[in-house]
Amino acid sequence: MSSAILITGGTLIDGNGGPLVSNSGVLLDDGKIVAIGDQAIEQASLDAAVIDATGKTVMPGLIDSHLHCTFDDVQSNDQLFFHRDSTLVALTTAQNLQKVLRAGVTSFVDPDTLHGVGPGIRNALEAGVIEGPRMKTGVQAMLTSVGGTAGPLIPDSGTVGYAQVVKSVDDVILWTRRHVKQGADWIKIHATGSTPTSKGEVLVWSQDELNAACDTAHALGVRAMAHCRTSESVRAAAEAGVDLILHASFMDEVALAAVVKSGSTLCPTFTFLANLADFGPSVGASPGMEDVFRNEISATAKMMREAYDSGVTLICGSESGFALTPYGHWHGREMEIFVNELGLTPIEAITTATKNGAWAMGMEDELGTVEVGKLADVLVVDGDPTQDITILNDKSKLSEIISRGKRVDLTQPWPQHGRIPNWQISSWASESLTWERAYGSPS
Ligand SMILES: [Zn+2]
Repeated sequence: MSSAILITGGTLIDGNGGPLVSNSGVLLDDGKIVAIGDQAIEQASLDAAVIDATGKTVMPGLIDSHLHCTFDDVQSNDQLFFHRDSTLVALTTAQNLQKVLRAGVTSFVDPDTLHGVGPGIRNALEAGVIEGPRMKTGVQAMLTSVGGTAGPLIPDSGTVGYAQVVKSVDDVILWTRRHVKQGADWIKIHATGSTPTSKGEVLVWSQDELNAACDTAHALGVRAMAHCRTSESVRAAAEAGVDLILHASFMDEVALAAVVKSGSTLCPTFTFLANLADFGPSVGASPGMEDVFRNEISATAKMMREAYDSGVTLICGSESGFALTPYGHWHGREMEIFVNELGLTPIEAITTATKNGAWAMGMEDELGTVEVGKLADVLVVDGDPTQDITILNDKSKLSEIISRGKRVDLTQPWPQHGRIPNWQISSWASESLTWERAYGSPS
């Protein structure tokens, strides 16, 4: 039987940022896009499956360039570092990746993975052992002994959860090489971290350490990304030649100039902050943080816009994998924030999640646009995202998801799992059992 799929009647957003093309056919066969426009209809064999996309939009599958597929919608650092058995991490990841795919994400980049399972998961996806998007991955994040965003939970040396603690320039070189040996597509540097006395995060790597990670990775043909949530860290990472900067919070003019000079790409990842600011209290997030995160978004958005106008490439990432960004629910929200906070047009925002994302995948020639010869990762969207970008964050509007040339079955129940022993943290009590609470106040 033919594997060909002919999509007819839809309006095409090809991902290159150009104008929409109405009533364009798209022919897929053998995992690739083989014809577009009238040629698609002429070339289609009689037994090709036909998808009528009249009134709908045809576009490239989404690429989420910042997603943690092994975290299982985690609620806290304690859970993440101390309550996750490696076998179950791999198995839950396989299930969660189905949710990611069903949200229209046909490719993603994972910076760092629990127990370093990233390359194994990627290989399982490629070989068809499990179903899910295409993946590029880091192994673990390199942290200094300051401890990244988990502070004192992180030991002074060794490996825990998604973290590899590095103690010196030599250690940075050693672990960069080891991660490359283990199959990393990306090296992850956790450039900033929290300390008990710092207000926000601070740069916790030396310039020599940053340089060593980037130089070692590049010498082995692998790219490096850095988590940077201060202006100084953005500058230092850019000067080290990092390829991709995550967050780039509070960037100032000096840091932006360094980014422009280095040619680093930025993945701001506002979604986690925006979810916390808008909905945090409704899911029991620690109160009082809403304004802090709203300020970080507006301060950073202004400089992101300036970066964009200076020719810096922006890519789209959701930071899915946390309880505030569960798999399959928020992969399109970043585009909405790009439109509302940065003033990008919907088409420009879509380009960050398609063509630009293909760069993060290292697959610019194969992914990110609907063009002849590219791989067949295509969405059919019910509506026009150039009129309303929010529909890309609404699964009910995804009428077809074609991944690796095959239609994803959207009729199956949403994948989910029950309670896993020791997966969550148990607490003895949420309040102190005082005598008064037990027996009431003495009269
Ligand atoms: Zn992240």
